[in-house]
Amino acid sequence: MGRHVWIRLAYNRVPPSPLPVSGSHPVLELQAMQGACVLLLLGLQLQLSFGIIPVEEEDPAFWNRQAAQALDVAKKLQPIQTAAKNVILFLGDGMGVPTVTATRILKGQMNGKLGPETPLAMDQFPYVALSKTYNVDRQVPDSAGTATAYLCGVKGNYKTIGVSAAARYNQCNTTSGNEVTSVMNRAKKAGKSVGVVTTSRVQHASPAGAYAHTVNRNWYSDADLPADAQTYGCQDIATQLVYNMDIDVRHDEIGAGLGRGGGTLSTQSQATHSLGVLKDLHGFVGVILGGGRKYMFPEGTPDPEYPNDVNQTGVRKDKRNLVQEWQAKHQGAQYVWNRTALLQAASDSSVTHLMGLFEPADMKYNVQQDHTKDPTLEEMTEAALQVLSRNPQGFYLFVEGGRIDHGHHEGKAYMALTDTVMFDNAIAKANELTSELDTLILATADHSHVFSFGGYTLRGTSIFGLAPSKASDSKSYTSILYGNGPGYALGGGSRPDVNDSTSEDPSYRQQAAVPLSSESHGGEDVAVFARGPQAHLVHGVQEETFVAHLMAFAGCVEPYTDCNLPDPAGVSDAAHLAASPPLLALLAGAMLLLLAPTLY
Ligand SMILES: [Zn+2]
Repeated sequence: MGRHVWIRLAYNRVPPSPLPVSGSHPVLELQAMQGACVLLLLGLQLQLSFGIIPVEEEDPAFWNRQAAQALDVAKKLQPIQTAAKNVILFLGDGMGVPTVTATRILKGQMNGKLGPETPLAMDQFPYVALSKTYNVDRQVPDSAGTATAYLCGVKGNYKTIGVSAAARYNQCNTTSGNEVTSVMNRAKKAGKSVGVVTTSRVQHASPAGAYAHTVNRNWYSDADLPADAQTYGCQDIATQLVYNMDIDVRHDEIGAGLGRGGGTLSTQSQATHSLGVLKDLHGFVGVILGGGRKYMFPEGTPDPEYPNDVNQTGVRKDKRNLVQEWQAKHQGAQYVWNRTALLQAASDSSVTHLMGLFEPADMKYNVQQDHTKDPTLEEMTEAALQVLSRNPQGFYLFVEGGRIDHGHHEGKAYMALTDTVMFDNAIAKANELTSELDTLILATADHSHVFSFGGYTLRGTSIFGLAPSKASDSKSYTSILYGNGPGYALGGGSRPDVNDSTSEDPSYRQQAAVPLSSESHGGEDVAVFARGPQAHLVHGVQEETFVAHLMAFAGCVEPYTDCNLPDPAGVSDAAHLAASPPLLALLAGAMLLLLAPTLY
């Protein structure tokens, strides 16, 4: 038995595109394959109905020992009771719990393991809670209303960003007076550096929750603003990115103490956005990395990466060059649009403000990127940490895996899950570059999707593979299915058959029960994973707003400036570390050794 196990282990060690292993169509496979390969495959198929059974897992002692170790770690877990110097929020857009589990299997197999037993980086955080994602007006939410909840701490309505539920979708005149302030804004006010990193356009709903107030998430540039919104003075999101995100706080607001709303989160007056009184503050830095170039430049401006593509030019009708305006505001502000320039800028200590826009709109899916031109989410996260950690007062960083959501909407699980693998890689990088003694890291999602995987698949088979048995219509079916979406394929009352080579294709759309051009979000809770100071408060079933309040409390920013938490032990000096990579690696290694007893 053991020998067969190891043969099959090796055989399955080739995802994300393993050889077809279906036992359902031997005739088809015989046609497709030849010679010894076929013989090997047939031999394997005989055993595949049992799945892979690792020899050590047959022994009860294996499970008893493993659980006892986990129990031991749990008993020794000590809350870190200090304030957090740094706060990092990782947001997997649309990363519901089924997506987390499926990604665990995929990433495990990519690393030569069977899959489900192999923890993700986020799995290794010691504290977890569930987050209730509904919008004030919708049971199943969108990314705009949820961003208001987890970034500003107040629930809002569907498709609105940075405004309370008193504001109405698409009604510009309900914006003013209903703005709510993000934790990022308050962190900047408290003297921290701030950053936004995303794989979607930086004006997209999730990142916009950190800096914008808008009753319509689609008002990316002035070209998207309807006439009445222009009349009432509503600003497009790109303009707010430059004038709010950089968070030029008025001097009279610095150290202003508790928010104006007493114990509640204060609304932000429009005056904060006005120019003139705004000044760049002593060495605060800001980092903006993602896609979204076209919303920043005048209509018709050729894109630097696609100069001959008329569909990728700037779109602004007001002819403003927002990148130029942003650069003019700060000394040491650098704008980059490709990976090489990003890596250079991040290691240049004279750069105080960094904006990197790597595509005209959203960045590409990780598997479709040209990695010589486009930075990965992991690289953008590292670059942001390098720049932000130069501030001795700490930083607040928002990192979004923004296209997990888009992969699901397209009904293409391969795109969603491979982007989630990269999202987890970015979490691992941040975990490595910062100390849990002074940096709170949260990893969560805004909402789920109607994505599922089931079908009693065999251990060790590809997450994109088939259930081992036929469906009632005598056809095969994939483990992954969507409740609705573009993968709907019923025609004339019958469902197309599917085989392994089809289902492993990166562009394959898993079947859906109901036809929709875009697969929908799911309404169930999402997980919140946490490590670092005050991470132990992440427990139970919480409203999504809890995420923002926890970040504000741990960071001792409004409305929790009286948090009464001791300063962190402060072992991580990432700015110093970032300046000399070899030392960084050494110290990070040493730090991990020190922390080893508390990690599992
Ligand atoms: Zn979505």
